[in-house]
Amino acid sequence: MNLAPLLTYAYVHCDGRYEEHTPMANYTSFHIGGPADLLVMPESLKEIRDLMTLGREMKVPVTIIGNGSNLLVRDGGIRGVVIKLGNALTQMQADGEHITADCGVSLAALSNFAAREGLTGLEFAVGIPGSVGGAVLMNAGAYDGDMSKVVESASVLLPDGSIAEVKKDEFDFSYRHSSIQDHPGVILRVVFCLKQGDKAAIQAKMDDFMNRRRTKQPLELPSAGSMFKRPPGYFAAALIDEAGLRGYRVGDAQVSEKHTGFVVNRGHATAKDVLQLIKDVQDKVYAFKGVRLEPEVRIIGEA
Ligand SMILES: Cc1cc2nc3c(=O)[nH]c(=O)nc-3n(C[C@H](O)[C@H](O)[C@H](O)COP(=O)(O)OP(=O)(O)OC[C@H]3O[C@@H](n4cnc5c(N)ncnc54)[C@H](O)[C@@H]3O)c2cc1C
Repeated sequence: MNLAPLLTYAYVHCDGRYEEHTPMANYTSFHIGGPADLLVMPESLKEIRDLMTLGREMKVPVTIIGNGSNLLVRDGGIRGVVIKLGNALTQMQADGEHITADCGVSLAALSNFAAREGLTGLEFAVGIPGSVGGAVLMNAGAYDGDMSKVVESASVLLPDGSIAEVKKDEFDFSYRHSSIQDHPGVILRVVFCLKQGDKAAIQAKMDDFMNRRRTKQPLELPSAGSMFKRPPGYFAAALIDEAGLRGYRVGDAQVSEKHTGFVVNRGHATAKDVLQLIKDVQDKVYAFKGVRLEPEVRIIGEA
């Protein structure tokens, strides 16, 4: 694999915004993950496109990440180039009942912006620590809301370098799923369709959601949020609790004592610890209830 052209590009165009052999632990909310060969934080569509084109031409694998809040990166790290989009590309604007937001906008910033504009529909997103791009890809949701209910369309950079306007229906949204998971593309910008609402009521709803999170979720420890998807007819956290796994630990990876749907990093957990814990939880819950839990967290990188 010849990374040199990508490295040269980063050196020339992305001064101070690229790192070599950087631990992905620094870029994930889990604080876990081996080194990426090269990580670049592009600031413009042109840079994203150039990096994708160079990756394709040089046959260098390209991995897109946002805020890294739904990722478990294996201990061997990521070969090729990681393009990190959260923290840059953060423009947003309102027009009537529509908000257009770049992929790097955080969901907290987006929902607070909507609240200031007196627009309702995005309150559910206020405590989800992801970026707009990652949230649309995951159809992130909470408290009966999710992205599928508010996304109208998005601009998506396709692998051939063209940009497609993808309409809501084409995202084929379902629980924590969108079509972009199956047909790779970079979500660049998203148009949300909201409704006029009462500013005080919107703020009160957001405060309530934040309070519920602080009370129920282990926000004081690194994690990637809910480790498992909700199996039809059950709640993953309840199944894990009933199987006696509250506080279950492999190394420094632990089923949270506070919320059994979360796996937390107690200090120096490795991806190997977390993967073993996932397997143990899956096996024990299956033996106990006959339900197979599937990870919601996306597992990437080399062992
Ligand atoms: C404490 C905590 C609480 C959480 N609560 C919730 C919750 O209530 N509901 C919920 O749904 N999730 C929750 N999560 C999980 C996570 O925040 C969401 O899945 C979030 O939407 C992920 O966004 P991200 O930017 O961090 O994506 P990342 O984790 O960086 O990436 C996730 C996936 O999206 C892809 N991706 C990222 N950006 C783009 C882009 N621009 N274009 C194409 N692909 C992209 C990546 O390749 C990867 O496959 C929680 C996580 C934590 C740590």
